[in-house]
Amino acid sequence: GDRKRVCIVGSGNWGSAIAKVLGTNVKTLDQFETQINMWVFEEDINGRKLTEIINTDHENVKYLPGHKIPENVIAIPDVVEAAKDADILVFVIPHQFLPKICGQLKSSVKPTAVGISLIKGFNMKEGGGIALISSVVEDTLHIPCAVLMGANIADEVASENYCEATIGIKQKEHGTLLKKLFQADYFRIVVCEDEDTVEICGALKNIVAVGAGFADGLGYGDNTKAAVIRLGLMEMVKFCEAFYHGSSQSTFLESCGVADLVTTCYAGRNRKVAEAFVKSKKSIEELEKEMLNGQKLQGPPTAEEVNFMLKSKGMEDRFPMFTAVHKICKGQLPVEEFINCLKNHPEHM
Ligand code: NAD
Ligand code: 13P
Repeated sequence: GDRKRVCIVGSGNWGSAIAKVLGTNVKTLDQFETQINMWVFEEDINGRKLTEIINTDHENVKYLPGHKIPENVIAIPDVVEAAKDADILVFVIPHQFLPKICGQLKSSVKPTAVGISLIKGFNMKEGGGIALISSVVEDTLHIPCAVLMGANIADEVASENYCEATIGIKQKEHGTLLKKLFQADYFRIVVCEDEDTVEICGALKNIVAVGAGFADGLGYGDNTKAAVIRLGLMEMVKFCEAFYHGSSQSTFLESCGVADLVTTCYAGRNRKVAEAFVKSKKSIEELEKEMLNGQKLQGPPTAEEVNFMLKSKGMEDRFPMFTAVHKICKGQLPVEEFINCLKNHPEHM
C-alpha cells in the first residue's frame, strides 16, 4: 500500500538510539512499513560481523551497549541496498563521512524520497565557504532534507529519559509525518520552520562544548562555564545573522539551541575529550581514539570548517571563541590562553 518505508543511514551511538525510537514507533503507526532498514558500516567484533550481531542479538554492542534495538530494524552493510526503496531517509553518521555516502547513494534513491538529517556539522566547499549538511543531501540526491536537532545525549534517549528535540523543515507538509515518526512519550518534538537556524545551532554548539571542556580542564568552575555557554550562544546568534539571513531569535530558545548547549557542555563527548586534552597534553586525535571506542567528535572538525570560512572573510575577531577553540585544537594556541581570548569579547566592548 502507501505505507512509507524508512531507512536509517548510520548506526553509531545516536543512530542506534534513534533506531530504537523509530523501530518501536513504526510498529503501531499505519503510515509506515514495519520493517526499517539500517545501514551499518560493517566491522568485525571479536570474529563476528556487527550486522550479524545486530540482526541476531538486537544490540549494537560496540556503539550503544546495554540497549536493545527492536527486531524490526534490519542491519544491512550495503548502503545502496539499504536505501533503495526508502521513502524516508534518516541521515545519522559523523558529518565527515556524509559526502562520500551521498555520492554512493546518488543514482539509487527514490526521486520522491524525503530526507531528514540528525547530523551536526558543516561541509567545506571546494571553492571556499561552507555548506549545511542538509544542503549536501539536497544537492547530491535531489530530494528535500529536513533536520532534527536537540538536547539528546544518545544513551539518555535510549534509556527513555524525558527530553525534547526540534525538527526543522522548509516544506510544511513534511512536518506532520516526520513528527509522527520521531515523537515518543519520552521524546517530545517541536516542529520549526526556521530550518537553517535549527541546523546551524546543532553544528555550532559542538564548538562551544569543546570550549566548556577546556574551561573545566583548566579548573575554572561554574561561573566560567556559564560565561562560555552564554558567549557561545551569542556567537551562534551572530553567525546566523552574518551568514544566514532570516533567523528568528525564538529558534535559539528551542531544544536545538539553549537546551542542547547546556546538555553538551555538561555531559557530551566533546566536553569530556576537551577536558582530557587540558589534563593529558595528548592530541585530540589520540584522545578520541583512546576514549571513545570508535565514536567520533564533531566539535574539532566543525571548528575547523567554521574557521575556514571566518578566516577567508577576515572575520575571526568577531568570533573569538570559535576561533580560539579551533586554534587550540590545532596546537596553534596554548589552551591556557583560552580564557584570555574571551576577555575582550565583542559582547564586552
Ligand atoms: P558515532 O560518534 O557513534 O560514530 C561512530 C559511527 O561512525 C559508527 O557507526 C561507525 O561505524 C561509523 N563510521 C566509522 N568510520 C566510518 C566511515 N569511514 N564511513 C562511514 N561511517 C563510519 O556516531 P553518532 O553518535 O551516531 O553521531 C552521528 C551524528 O549524530 C553526529 O553528527 C553527532 O553530532 C550527532 N548526534 C550525536 C548524539 C550522541 O549523543 N551520540 C546526539 C545527537 C546528535
Ligand atoms: P557530543 O557529541 O558532544 O556527545 O554531543 C552529543 C549531542 O549532540 C547531544 O545533543
